Amino acid sequence: MNKVVIIGGGIAGLSAGIFAQKNGFDSVILEKHHTLGGECTGWNRQGYHIDGCIHWLVGTKEGTPMRQLWDEVGALDGVDIYDPESFMAVEMEGETVHFYRDLDRMKASWLELAPEDKEAIEELCLDIRQLHDFTMPAGKPMDLMSLMEKIKFFLSMKDVGKLMQKYDKISIGDLAEKFKNPALRGVIASFMPEGDYSASSILFPLGTFTGGQSSIPVGGSKALSLRMEEKYRSLGGKVETSCEVMDVEIEGKTVKRLICQDGKSFQADYYIAACDAHVVYEKLLGGNYPDREFQKRFNDPGKYPLASNIYVGVGYADTINNLPRTLKFPVDKLPIHQNGKPTEHLQMTHYAYEPDFAPRGHTVITFAINQFQPDLEELQELVKDPEAYRQEKDRIGKLVIQAMEARFPYMAGKLTLLDVATPQTYQRYCNAYQGAFMGFWPTLSGKSMTHTGRIKGLDNMMLSGQWLQPPGGLPIAVITGKDSIMRLCKKLGRPWYQN
Ligand SMILES: Cc1cc2nc3c(=O)[nH]c(=O)nc-3n(C[C@H](O)[C@H](O)[C@H](O)COP(=O)(O)OP(=O)(O)OC[C@H]3O[C@@H](n4cnc5c(N)ncnc54)[C@H](O)[C@@H]3O)c2cc1C
Repeated sequence: MNKVVIIGGGIAGLSAGIFAQKNGFDSVILEKHHTLGGECTGWNRQGYHIDGCIHWLVGTKEGTPMRQLWDEVGALDGVDIYDPESFMAVEMEGETVHFYRDLDRMKASWLELAPEDKEAIEELCLDIRQLHDFTMPAGKPMDLMSLMEKIKFFLSMKDVGKLMQKYDKISIGDLAEKFKNPALRGVIASFMPEGDYSASSILFPLGTFTGGQSSIPVGGSKALSLRMEEKYRSLGGKVETSCEVMDVEIEGKTVKRLICQDGKSFQADYYIAACDAHVVYEKLLGGNYPDREFQKRFNDPGKYPLASNIYVGVGYADTINNLPRTLKFPVDKLPIHQNGKPTEHLQMTHYAYEPDFAPRGHTVITFAINQFQPDLEELQELVKDPEAYRQEKDRIGKLVIQAMEARFPYMAGKLTLLDVATPQTYQRYCNAYQGAFMGFWPTLSGKSMTHTGRIKGLDNMMLSGQWLQPPGGLPIAVITGKDSIMRLCKKLGRPWYQN
């Protein structure tokens, strides 16, 4: 039986572990934190549970390959799926623009608001609808496909490919400019700061959401990770927590052992680095095994921006019945930097559908404030002074509460700041480079990358996780974890066992 050591117990590491066990390997997961799940997590504060991850999960629709994969790793066992009425509602120019799950309803509401944009609305909705038939591929990775399988795959992706090409060629700003109505134009432009962020990053989430392929597993992110951990352990997988890998001992092209923070070492036949790619290349491998594709991207954050955010948890001492689950509302130039400028909209998500996340009659609310290169650099400096960093988090939390009270005067006096997490928090807990929660944002000037996880110069170690493929997030983590074991089976000439 071959032994596999997996660095990192996030969703990619858990997926690799589950498939390792299913395929007859003897595996152990080494996790830095005291708990598994990585960024797919949640935490308790003052009687509330803050869900730190899932806003939507691609692959909740029964009968799709992605759903099959989630079922296979036990992520959705016995879980109800919550289908929110809208992806998000955005208040802009005195109007509320809804991104309804029902695409016809969304289109009708937009046409009513902006009949002058009939052509642009119909084109966008038609394109979103074309993605309804697209199911995220979750089978073999491309590098393991035969020629015939590749041809079949490309043919199946023909229409989606054309669509993605169309939206990859225009920026979010260009898409916004197609709309004359100031509210619609502003809503689309507000998805990202100005720059060349590709419009495809709007299309894909809306396509999967309105196509019924992405929703929310009830119980949230932490519970999902725990179910995967349970599955892994039930298959005989072993876990070492509070066990940060600090060093990799290499002889020739072979990794010999991993050395952890507490001095313990682990030996195996194969090693899967299911942790942050930047940490692997720069810290664990000391920059000695550079990867051109990753280097190009990490060295050029202009073309290849990172995706990170400040995440604020707020407790509300009442119930919420009348607000969309996710609402973006305007704020008066809030001095919280986003791309070096004040925040003009806040995006809140409430968890009224999760009564167990709050004391009886209360509701938990979170805010996600995207952070870009100048903001990330500011935070990186600030964290060096712990007191100044703490004060800044406090200041951000208070500003968010004030902005809420200004927008919802009836909430005044009923809001409690629970927590402010920054990209530095995710870096500290998960080693996530600059707190990134997916690979690189798609831009017009940057090329999207699909990486095989191969580390050039090493024969028995490979990479897995959210960095390897667009669009990142949980689906890519679970897919790439599985893929690493598929590649290992292929390398060893073993049949692949799934089920
Ligand atoms: C606020 C927020 C909201 C999000 N919302 C969504 C969403 O709605 N939908 C979606 O699909 N995705 C979402 N994501 C993204 C998703 O959480 C991540 O893409 C995914 O969890 C990444 O999984 P991973 O296993 O690749 O990496 P990680 O989760 O980063 O796991 C890596 C693991 O490795 C461990 N580790 C790192 N270095 C070492 C070391 N040296 N030794 C040992 N262990 C180590 C870390 O502690 C961590 O547990 C969100 C993320 C955030 C932060």
